[in-house]
Amino acid sequence: MSKANDPSLKSWIEVDPNSDFPIQNLPFGIFKTQSSSPRVGVAIGDNVLDLAIMNKLGFFDKLRIDNSVFTNQYLNDFIALGKQTTNAVRERISQLLSADNSELRDNKEAQGKVLQYISNVQMQMPVKIGDYTDFYSSIDHATNVGTMFRDPANALLPNWKHLPVGYHGRASSIVISGTDFHRPKGQTKPNEAEPPVFGPCRLLDFELETAFIIGKSTSLGENITTENADDHIFGMVLFNDWSARDIQTWEYVPLGPFLAKNFASTISPWIVTLEALEPFRTNGYKQEPKVLPYLEYNGDKNIDINLDVFIKPETAEETLVSHSNYKFMYWTMEQQLAHHTVNGCNVNIGDMMASGTISGPTADSFGSMLEITWRGTKPVKMKDGSERKFINDNDTVIMRGYCKKEGVRVGFGECKGKVLPAK
Ligand code: MN
Repeated sequence: MSKANDPSLKSWIEVDPNSDFPIQNLPFGIFKTQSSSPRVGVAIGDNVLDLAIMNKLGFFDKLRIDNSVFTNQYLNDFIALGKQTTNAVRERISQLLSADNSELRDNKEAQGKVLQYISNVQMQMPVKIGDYTDFYSSIDHATNVGTMFRDPANALLPNWKHLPVGYHGRASSIVISGTDFHRPKGQTKPNEAEPPVFGPCRLLDFELETAFIIGKSTSLGENITTENADDHIFGMVLFNDWSARDIQTWEYVPLGPFLAKNFASTISPWIVTLEALEPFRTNGYKQEPKVLPYLEYNGDKNIDINLDVFIKPETAEETLVSHSNYKFMYWTMEQQLAHHTVNGCNVNIGDMMASGTISGPTADSFGSMLEITWRGTKPVKMKDGSERKFINDNDTVIMRGYCKKEGVRVGFGECKGKVLPAK
């Protein structure tokens, strides 16, 4: 395990115990300020470390990195340096921020140049996303949906336990946390016996997901195995796959989701590296029946990531509506990637692969309003006394995620978005 993950490490920068960004995390993102153009940063406590200036000041000299990868509006070129280099950068930063290292600790002038308060910066999309795929890999979510819409006795379709079901989504409408959007409009069919109507979506939902970012490209015809999949995964973000349920119901047969999904998806701004998540690996559901050989894997490949969803009405405080966990995934990222490429489909740096809605086994851990309110039949109460079946205009949905073990909390920050009234 990397030295950067040592739970006993402390930074000379004060980090609140409840911060998502202790020295053991060091996630990468793109930020800008009023006076600076977009650049690569690393979060530490309430601060952002400016890697472009760090490199310019010589702190990464031994790594010999061209500064253009840091003065860049996306992380793609940095990621393209390869894990050997990007991990070395993370480890060098860990060293420089460690309490016992004096290089930056005792250089106040450099500190003034390389550290900014997170509250003073504006986070940008971390990567240029080429392609986006959404899986459907939570067994509790798939079972809930199958129970509601099909047959409780045969909730999972026959293929579900044999392959990680997924579909190709749209990258253009993936937005950074804090981006508001208008309620989508579209065709729905509220009455069975009558023709469809056009208008604002009435059943707007969130989907609690995570996404991983491809860190190493492949060529057409190449396959990624479960064994080498981690080499191709740079890191993870939180992902809200906003969904228009009434539009989805009318449009999705036979080719799956289309306009019900592509109006907006929100991601958290910091990419937590797979390396920072390694200490939190855990086992998952037992896969029965046995999967085909190309989907078999060794070791613990799930990750214990607490996932919370809150709804904040316009004029009230936020209410927790779900507490789930990434460990509830049936199919792992490694299996998803092996399956995605088993036919020779190539992947590129910056591609994003979302998990699918992550529901746990109990009602308080369901990952969508569809399940939490069971199609609107069991509304949830907000702290201000109002009720929600789905998401109202001017509601903000906030997702937070973090791992915690041995006193170390490695988190993702927030993934939030506000729903404005339809245009
Ligand atoms: Mn989804």
